[in-house]
Amino acid sequence: MLENLFASRIDIKTKSRLVGLFPDNNFADNISFGGGCPDEQLFPAKELTAAYQDAVCRQMNHAFQYHDIKGPERLREYLAARAQAKMGISKVTADDVMLTAGGQQGIELVAKLFIGKGDAMAVEAPSYVGALAAFDAYEPTYYQIGMENDGVNIDQFESILKKHPEIKLFYTVPDFHNPTGVTMSLKKRERLVELANKYDFVILEDTPYRDLRYHGQDLPSIKSFDTEGRVIFLSSFSKILTPAFRLGWLVASPEIKEQLTNLKLAEDLEVPYIPSATVDSYIANNDLDQHIEDLKDLYRAKLDTMYRALKQNLPAGTKVSHPEGGFFFWIELDPEIDTTSLLWKQSVPDQHLIYVPSESFYPNRDIKNGMRVNFTGSTIKQINDGCRRLRAVIDSAEIS
Ligand code: PMP
Repeated sequence: MLENLFASRIDIKTKSRLVGLFPDNNFADNISFGGGCPDEQLFPAKELTAAYQDAVCRQMNHAFQYHDIKGPERLREYLAARAQAKMGISKVTADDVMLTAGGQQGIELVAKLFIGKGDAMAVEAPSYVGALAAFDAYEPTYYQIGMENDGVNIDQFESILKKHPEIKLFYTVPDFHNPTGVTMSLKKRERLVELANKYDFVILEDTPYRDLRYHGQDLPSIKSFDTEGRVIFLSSFSKILTPAFRLGWLVASPEIKEQLTNLKLAEDLEVPYIPSATVDSYIANNDLDQHIEDLKDLYRAKLDTMYRALKQNLPAGTKVSHPEGGFFFWIELDPEIDTTSLLWKQSVPDQHLIYVPSESFYPNRDIKNGMRVNFTGSTIKQINDGCRRLRAVIDSAEIS
């Protein structure tokens, strides 16, 4: 009724990409490969509860007061040291680190800073659905760059940049990409920064899965090659500790960080103090890296199980990515199959299986024959059973 009063950027005809991703059936026998959930078993609940008590007891009533937007200094110092040691980013200080309400807020703030209606930006195709949802609200003109087994198709990107030098921002998930699982090669990371310098654009390097490598060697971040302050490095505690605190962090040049901070002030005034003080206390009193090693041991077994089960069960000729870390596999089926209608139809009795259909991950929602499947949120048994179900679901597809 009041639709005519909504801002013009609110597109009432197209549903948000984040709504209705999964069918709302509550079948008791559902197996979900849908969301990007960590395994709950390994949340360090006891340690986080002690850290919460420590954070509050140290400050008592003051803990419940408003605080500075920057968040705990010791936590930012820790993250600056981590950025240098693990991401290869040189000369980072606590002042270069900005805390955000999850990585998601970092994406949204970057979109708000750089994208006005019709501004040109480039994204990987497919791309993280939550980032596209955040970008959508600022009405960019999207340029889609295809993905290869070693990351974005950089030659295609350069030819698009030649035709569209107005591209201002490139969004990438270089480590264990959401949704494909692919990792960008070292060469492409270097070349991307050269392109950014040459064609004058900014890179948002989004890396929530970076610490979760189960096979192979770590690579330096894209930001580590940055010579002109053009790369914004974004990470999060959601996948390595808990998503419930909504705590992310980014490293950006002073010029960019100042503007992002101003935008964040207008959005929510400050970093939620108690979650950030709790994480600060957790890190001071526990070994986060050992916790990450424990996660990696469990997730490595799950990744290997799912890869084997997919290979055994998927029809011959189906393309499956082979990630070395992260949370997801990407599957490409026969081009005639529409994975969205297949998901909602759930026509196979007792074979209920949830995955995310490919169309959500493309700006124009036009590629229908793929799907993202998650392995971290399921047990080994569910992974094996779910992959058998997946075959039955695919076999039920009516090819038009
Ligand atoms: N970026 C990517 C690539 C993600 O997969 C996610 C979560 N699924 C996020 C950002 C946002 O995560 P959070 O806000 O929980 O840090």
